[in-house]
Amino acid sequence: MRFLIFLLLNYLVLFSAELHFKLYKLTGKEKGPTLLVFGGIHGNEPGGYFAPALLVTHYHIDKGALWVAPNLNFDSIIRFQRGRYGDMNRKFSTIAKNDPDKEIIEDIKALILNDQVDLILNLHDGHGFYRDKWQNSIFNPKAWGQACIIDQKSIDAKRFGDLDKLARQVSKRLNKKLLYQHHIFNVKNTETKMKDEQMRLSLTYFAITHGKPAMAIETSKNLTDVSQKVLYQLRAIEAFMDEIGISYHRDFDMNLQTIRTLLHHYGTVVINDNFLVPLDTVDKLLRFVPLKKRGNHITYADSPLAAIKKSGRYYHVMIGPWKITTLQPDYFTMKERLPSVEIEADEEIKKVKIPSIFEFRESFRVHAPKGYRVNIIGFSKKGKSNENNMTITFHDLNPRYAMDKHNRLFRVEFYHNNQFCGMTIAKKVDP
Ligand SMILES: [Zn+2]
Repeated sequence: MRFLIFLLLNYLVLFSAELHFKLYKLTGKEKGPTLLVFGGIHGNEPGGYFAPALLVTHYHIDKGALWVAPNLNFDSIIRFQRGRYGDMNRKFSTIAKNDPDKEIIEDIKALILNDQVDLILNLHDGHGFYRDKWQNSIFNPKAWGQACIIDQKSIDAKRFGDLDKLARQVSKRLNKKLLYQHHIFNVKNTETKMKDEQMRLSLTYFAITHGKPAMAIETSKNLTDVSQKVLYQLRAIEAFMDEIGISYHRDFDMNLQTIRTLLHHYGTVVINDNFLVPLDTVDKLLRFVPLKKRGNHITYADSPLAAIKKSGRYYHVMIGPWKITTLQPDYFTMKERLPSVEIEADEEIKKVKIPSIFEFRESFRVHAPKGYRVNIIGFSKKGKSNENNMTITFHDLNPRYAMDKHNRLFRVEFYHNNQFCGMTIAKKVDP
């Protein structure tokens, strides 16, 4: 019986994927076509999700629209697996009612069929380097890398139905500027209808058989540096926008060094709307983090690839498959967040939002409303459990309890009737 219940529970847990993808709509002031970019359908193809993540955070559209879903298979992305529940790109023809990806697949289909969408790109990293003639085991017609993949030459569509021509124009643009000559892009036609049974189950085939122009961009898995893949993916997407008449600008220069820097700029996350973590300088482990027993989730993140992954008794804060920090939980029930608090920093009184960061040079003093207990992590004074209305200097703070590698960020937490109701971060700056 117990075994049966276990099976049943397992089944229920697996009924639906834990994380759902997000959709970002970047819309220009001037009317124009809409390009829909799907990333991360395969969780172990990082070029396919880090590139669209940068589209979301660093591009602006002036004419037309760019819709981006950078993390289709989010459960698999944070585990660096191709497909946690099987290959998501083989579920577009039929899907079982109890497939954990069912809801995600239905939502992807609805987006594809959206009247506003003119062209769809699905991003991957593929094996080897596609060539139309056999050269060796890496450069050959069976390889997928460095290619625009079309299912057939053309489809009947209002516009952009000549897939082959569009893919060739894009490849031509890409090939004007390569990091190495062997990175050259080609067009691979899988001739899906006649020759490729597997591809008939795919996202792009679903799209083209429903009158929507679609193709895949594959950078090569043999490029070992993720920033190289991201560079080519972004240049390919830009080439598509140039070809179909979407105008855009980005806030960075397109080169490997800059992309590398951007990929490792994680920004901040807010957990449960009450706990802020600045990820760029955070320590590897944060202890005694007030969390809920169940349902902890990220309520704000600079990166579209930020997520929480539970593992045993710990919670990892992930950017895609990269573990940025680990939270050791201290379980609390959550009270409604205290919206803001008055703080005296170096004798200046400020209204500080919760959660956020405030700066101090020498000292600070918290003025929490009546009934609230203040706990400053890294500060302790014998016989005091409430650190409200106490002047705290930098030297009173134990660096071992700082949140960050530079020992400058200290948590100031608020409790009411032993329920957690938010925090702010005191940041030491130089006088
Ligand atoms: Zn793939």
